[in-house]
Amino acid sequence: MWYNHDKMVYLDYAATAPILKEVKEAMREAEEKFFGNASALHTPGHLAMNEIEKTRELLAKIIKAEPEEIIFTAGASESNNTVIRTFQGCEIETSPIEHHSVLETAKVCRGKKLPKLYSYMLANNETGEVLKLPEIDKSFFDDSPLFREKNDWGKELVTDKRKSYLHSDLTQVLGKIPIDVKKLGLDYASFSTHKIGGPIGVGALYVKKGVPFKPLIIGGNQENKRRGGTYNTIGIIGFRTALEKIMTEKTCERYNKEVRKLRDLLAKRILEEIPGSSLNTELRASASLPNILNVSFRAAEGESIQLYLDAEGIIVSTGSACAAGDTKPSHVLMAKTGDAEVAHSSIRFSFGLDSSLSDVEQVMKVLPKIIDRLQQISTI
Ligand code: PMP
Repeated sequence: MWYNHDKMVYLDYAATAPILKEVKEAMREAEEKFFGNASALHTPGHLAMNEIEKTRELLAKIIKAEPEEIIFTAGASESNNTVIRTFQGCEIETSPIEHHSVLETAKVCRGKKLPKLYSYMLANNETGEVLKLPEIDKSFFDDSPLFREKNDWGKELVTDKRKSYLHSDLTQVLGKIPIDVKKLGLDYASFSTHKIGGPIGVGALYVKKGVPFKPLIIGGNQENKRRGGTYNTIGIIGFRTALEKIMTEKTCERYNKEVRKLRDLLAKRILEEIPGSSLNTELRASASLPNILNVSFRAAEGESIQLYLDAEGIIVSTGSACAAGDTKPSHVLMAKTGDAEVAHSSIRFSFGLDSSLSDVEQVMKVLPKIIDRLQQISTI
C-alpha cells in the first residue's frame, strides 16, 4: 500500500533512485563489521580501508580508469564544485544546460587566465539529451599561475600542462550507457551513488593522473590529501553494492532494451491520446538516455500536473528536482526551446529497472483526464 493507493508508481528515478535492497543489507552489515576509522593503523581501520579500496577498484574498472584516479566525495555537487574551483580565475566554458552545481560555481570562479576548463555533461538530467563533448585544444604550455601555486597539492603533481582540460558531469550516465573516460578524452568526471540505487550523500570524482587539482576540503590527509574528512566507509560500501549490480545485471544493456521500450511506449501513447502534448526529449537511441522522457502539455501547468498525479499515487518531476519550489522556468528547457510556456508546462518521467508496463498503463489511465481538466480551466 502507498497511502490510499494499491501501490506507488514511482517515475522519478532521475531525481533519486530508491535505495536497493542489496545496498541496504550490505550497509547494515557494514555498520557492524566496518565501523573503524579507515585512516587508523589498527585492525578495524585496516578492514574499513580495504572495503574502500575495493570500491575504488570497481568504479575504476567500470569507467576504464586507474584506482588512483578516483576520489570519494559527498556527491556529484561536491565533485563538480571541486573541479571548477581548481580552475578559479581561469577561463571556464560550460554548456547552458549543466546542473546548477556546475553553472553557479563557474559563475563565481570564472576568470581570464589559461588553462581553460570545459565542463560539458554527457547527458542531461531534465531531458535525457545526450550531448556531443567539445573538441579541446590539447597543445601544451607551462606558464600559468595555476601550475605555479605552492600549495599542499604541489605543482610537481601537475605533469600535464595543457591549454585546455575537459570535465564531464556523468551523474545521469553511470549504469545507463557504458563509460570509457579515456575514449571520451576526459580529464575529470563526476558521479553520484543515489542515482543508481546507492545511498544519498556519496559520490566520486575521476581525476586523470597529472592534471591540475586543488582540494575543496582541506585539513585532512585522506584520499592522498585530495579530500579531507573521515571516510564514509558505510556509504562507500553501499556505493560498491550498487556498482556491482551494474556489472552483474548488465544494467546498460537492460536500460537500452527494456527501459527504452517502456519510455518510448509512454511517449507514443501520450502523443496519440493527449491533445496539445509535445516531447522535449528526442527518442532516437543515440540522442537521449533510455530512461528519461520530458513532455510539455499545452495550457497545463507542470506543478499542477505533478500534484494531480501525486494524488493518484504517481510520482514524477517538473524539470529538475533541484529546481523544485523555484517558480522560474527550467533553465534547461529555456535553453532548448526558448519558450517559457513550454518550460512551465513540462513533466519529466524517469524510469528505473523496476519500472513496468503496468506503470505506463497506470499513468495513461489518469493523465489524459488530468490534462483535459487543467486545459479546461486554463486562462491561456
Ligand atoms: N549533476 C546532475 C546531472 C544531477 O542530476 C545531479 C542530481 N540532481 C547532481 C549533479 C547532483 O548530485 P548530488 O545530489 O549527488 O549532489
